[in-house]
Amino acid sequence: MKTVVKFLTINNVQPLDDLFTYMENVVIELLENGLITKVIVGQTTLDFGESSPIDEIADNVFAVEFVYSKENVNTHWQLIFEFGTFSSSKQLEITISSDDYRIKIDNNYLEQLKLAIKTSIKDDWKEIVWLMDKDSEMLSIELYPSIYRVENLARQLINEIMTKEYGIEWWEVYVPIQIKKKHRARMSGYKSTVPGFTNVNERLMSIDIGDLISIFTLKEKKWVPVFDGEISHFLNDHSEMKLEKVREILVGQMETTRDLWTEQFSKYLSDGFIEYLKEFELNRNHVVHNKLIDRTAYISILRSIQNVEKELKDGLHKVSETVISTEQRKAIAEQVEMEREEQEAALHDIMESEAGVEIRSVEEIIELYDEHLYEFYTEFQSNLRFRNDIEIGDYQNIASSEDTGVLFEVKYKIEDETAKVSYELESIIDSQGAESTVSISIQIGEENYSKFIRYVNGEASFNSYQGNYMPETQDEFNMSDLEELMEGLVEFLDEHFENKRESIDSEMYSIIKDGGSSPVADIPCWGCGEDYICVDENYGDWGQCLNCGEINEIAVCSRCECYFEGESNGDEPVFCENCLDHFEKE
Ligand SMILES: [Zn+2]
Ligand SMILES: [Zn+2]
Repeated sequence: MKTVVKFLTINNVQPLDDLFTYMENVVIELLENGLITKVIVGQTTLDFGESSPIDEIADNVFAVEFVYSKENVNTHWQLIFEFGTFSSSKQLEITISSDDYRIKIDNNYLEQLKLAIKTSIKDDWKEIVWLMDKDSEMLSIELYPSIYRVENLARQLINEIMTKEYGIEWWEVYVPIQIKKKHRARMSGYKSTVPGFTNVNERLMSIDIGDLISIFTLKEKKWVPVFDGEISHFLNDHSEMKLEKVREILVGQMETTRDLWTEQFSKYLSDGFIEYLKEFELNRNHVVHNKLIDRTAYISILRSIQNVEKELKDGLHKVSETVISTEQRKAIAEQVEMEREEQEAALHDIMESEAGVEIRSVEEIIELYDEHLYEFYTEFQSNLRFRNDIEIGDYQNIASSEDTGVLFEVKYKIEDETAKVSYELESIIDSQGAESTVSISIQIGEENYSKFIRYVNGEASFNSYQGNYMPETQDEFNMSDLEELMEGLVEFLDEHFENKRESIDSEMYSIIKDGGSSPVADIPCWGCGEDYICVDENYGDWGQCLNCGEINEIAVCSRCECYFEGESNGDEPVFCENCLDHFEKE
């Protein structure tokens, strides 16, 4: 016979000595309940006194066949009890079979039979496991189409209301990011199995009922900061405060900025709808996940489906009758555009944080250049801190409105020359993975040196297997370009703004050895206090300090030929203090 129900009982809680009698008691109970009309042995009906209708068809396997009659219709049944022993405990597999019973909703005989058997033995066992049940399966199969129909109606209603109110862009703007991500992850698999839908924007089709509920009830909140004395005290270290408490205060300042249920869906659906829909979701999951149902559950689920279905159909009817004016349409379009921009910004943040890359806008790229160039400037200053003959001007930020500009000036005090260090925005590109370049150059008269400084923008792509954004290109500011620029700039300056102090230091020894006279005076400069005042016009101007560029008034004493602070006076003799003292004493 065809098996219609099979279940297993595990771990007996009391000793089962006589297995035959155990089954016999169950059969007697079923007879008493009227669930067995007559038991069959061969061709005759037996009473239990003589021999039993129960056959031991194998070791510890017992079978009974019987007839159930109702309204002159006879159905034939077989019940098998198969006992097994595992370690010290027993288990029992019960199989109910019939060839001529028709499983249908309005015949509850099998449901009563299986429950009666279960009830009569359930106290003897620790656990009962249902293995198969054609009766329950039939009930679920009856419910499936209604469930799918209602889910699709819910999707259709959301789509129609949202499109009518907010236009085709509503999905991008209003659907929470977690739902979009789930959708995108599923879509790639879905579209590859159904290539016919490749170019169709089916949006809600792959969205679960639970997510549909979250669209119906979507609320967005924004933090609107308000001064709070308690937090202020805490931030000033005047009081202790748990972070939870801080959070609680800040959450209390949140304001609802969007409430789709109040704004839209409540116009078309009743107040109780969301409750109906939540109940529908529970039932739906019960059925779809193949949990057992009986006729009581079937009726209650069916009622829940019908409630939701009626609401949705009424809602769709109302939508079709609603007309939106041009003014409303315009206001809505503006609102949608604003929200779309906010959404884009939010998506941008998510992309960056999941992929761990920065995807910068043009302004942000320029800002980044500015930061690095300012650091570069500071380092440049410190590299040249011993060049007293050079003066570095203030740093000026890159002006994003100007393609070129001066970053800072370098003044050479010995020859009163100025070099300009400037930028040129060659290409600033904010698309993902694109390279930007800024050229930095130094110019002295006709001479110049320049170097490209490169930046690569971050790039992220959506990984549909993992359902998140992954890095494609790491954003990178090219630091080695800056290092080369540093070397190049310093070299260029050394070449064009000669460090005369250094040259004198290195030549001094050989000048003196060859019997020449020192090109610098042996008295300190007014400005820097070092002995680099030039007295040899091959090296610089007479009186100019070759260390700091200061012009000193110095003269040679006509008597002792030493250098001293003071003015020359044409061909007239001048004398140093020592010599003047000497004359006075005479
Ligand atoms: Zn000096
Ligand atoms: Zn003198």
